[in-house]
Amino acid sequence: YKKVLAAVDLTEASASYVLERGRPFVAEDGELFAVHVVEPQYVQYSFDPTFTGSLTRSLEADALAVATKRLDELCSAQGIDPQHQRVVLGRPADKIHELVEQEAFDLIITGSHGQEGIRLLLGSTANAVLHGSPVDVATIRMPKGLH
Ligand code: AMP
Repeated sequence: YKKVLAAVDLTEASASYVLERGRPFVAEDGELFAVHVVEPQYVQYSFDPTFTGSLTRSLEADALAVATKRLDELCSAQGIDPQHQRVVLGRPADKIHELVEQEAFDLIITGSHGQEGIRLLLGSTANAVLHGSPVDVATIRMPKGLH
């Protein structure tokens, strides 16, 4: 694969594991990118009438800034420079598919780990990424203990 997009959460152990195991999928003349999707906060607050949009935007801007810095730390340790890092806001699977179309990635890598509680019922991020993906998806099985 020539242009590979690894979807990572911002947990050190699981992000580096996904990036390490994903690398062999990249052709010698190929490139490895990493993306993190920040989920919008407004859903949690939308029923509170005192909650204003400007506060939402400020929380989101903060979250994006923190995620950008954190992703850069995780990526630097893996030799992935800032030109190969993406941070976007939205629903992870939708945003990852959008990015794949926009930038013509040819493979998506995700980690897979058992979710507990409500997120298991809703389906994991990896599952959502797989469904409706315009390109191949490789799922890295997470070892027990690595969440
Ligand atoms: P989860 O569905 O949260 O168990 O995560 C499984 C895998 O989905 C992770 O190992 C990542 O590859 C990917 N993933 C989860 N959350 C995000 C996110 N916010 N942005 C990008 N990828 C994510």
